[in-house]
Amino acid sequence: MPESEQSRPLPAGGSVRPITRWGTPVMHHELAEVTVFDDDLATLVADMVATMHAARGVGLAANQVGVNRKVFVFDCPDDEDNRVTGVVCNPVLTLPSGKDRQLETADEGCLSLPGAFTECARPDQSHVTGVDHTGSPVEFHGTGLLARCLQHETDHLFGTVFGDRVPERARKKLNKQHQEVADGYPDDWPITILVDEDAQE
Ligand code: ZN
Repeated sequence: MPESEQSRPLPAGGSVRPITRWGTPVMHHELAEVTVFDDDLATLVADMVATMHAARGVGLAANQVGVNRKVFVFDCPDDEDNRVTGVVCNPVLTLPSGKDRQLETADEGCLSLPGAFTECARPDQSHVTGVDHTGSPVEFHGTGLLARCLQHETDHLFGTVFGDRVPERARKKLNKQHQEVADGYPDDWPITILVDEDAQE
């Protein structure tokens, strides 16, 4: 997959951490702003990258490894199948409005509810600004799956999971799907991997 020119390199050398699941309190409240850009943050971000890749995800938020800090990482194709990678602390998300606002419905999944997917309608473009783990300003424009990913990950940092954005019936279906395959995801997943995954967020 060709690399997009808006890509920023992801830190390497991190360790895989267990992924936190829906229902754990840190998944369901707004996280704290990142104010200190130190070695501890660099380690967290490198570990998040390793964890996202181990789980074959396209994005991961800090609360998905149990940490109350507003930062997410992503490694996700755009609508031209260019690979875009980056780290965003304290994201500010902008979505199209008026006649530029087009909803796209597609299957969505979440690493914190592994093995479950349902349709979710979201704007087909998104724009996010923030800073990376060194405090440098970053900006990403999302199309295709990346538009969805930037929205999904920013949602996580504000305590929203995509199950909150779908109708009750879809939410029940999600939980049922997850329960059916839950044995494939031990508590320390993706340190222990029993099931080969498609891309999830
Ligand atoms: Zn998610």
